[in-house]
Amino acid sequence: MVDVSGDCWLWTGALDHNGSGMFSVGGQFDASGKRRNSMMLAHRFAWVAQQGPIPAGAGHHGTCVLHSCLNLNCVNPAHLYLGTAQDAVTAMDERGRRVNAPLMGDAHANAKLTEKDVREIVARFREGGITQRQLAAIYGVSHATVNHIFTGRLWSHLGFVAKKGFKK
Ligand SMILES: [Zn+2]
Repeated sequence: MVDVSGDCWLWTGALDHNGSGMFSVGGQFDASGKRRNSMMLAHRFAWVAQQGPIPAGAGHHGTCVLHSCLNLNCVNPAHLYLGTAQDAVTAMDERGRRVNAPLMGDAHANAKLTEKDVREIVARFREGGITQRQLAAIYGVSHATVNHIFTGRLWSHLGFVAKKGFKK
């Protein structure tokens, strides 16, 4: 469930709506004896497995496990650190600025990806084992944006999409 081929260890399982890796922890019983499945964030699990329990922390949200890299689905313990909820907001903000920084002066209003990103996304998708949704999370864009690459609504000038549709 984890791709450790790169510097970032990318969670290849399910992602939550923020693009963080997650999985279901089943077979737990709550106080009333009802069985429930709870979702566990993969990077929090990775932290506990490698570093031990996450301290409770003072704030309402307790202690957060944050990423020093740009991949919210990265579970490399070397890229994780503990912080407060405020640290998490600040980090998200910085991450957003980095991801959204103007790139190559592209005039397209929706352009957050560089041509290099788009070529990588197509190459990684062609290799298989990764979904468009996961690619969207990795590159910090919406699923629709990635989907548009494969339908030819965006970046069609790169020629990935033939008239008959995307050539795999
Ligand atoms: Zn990483």
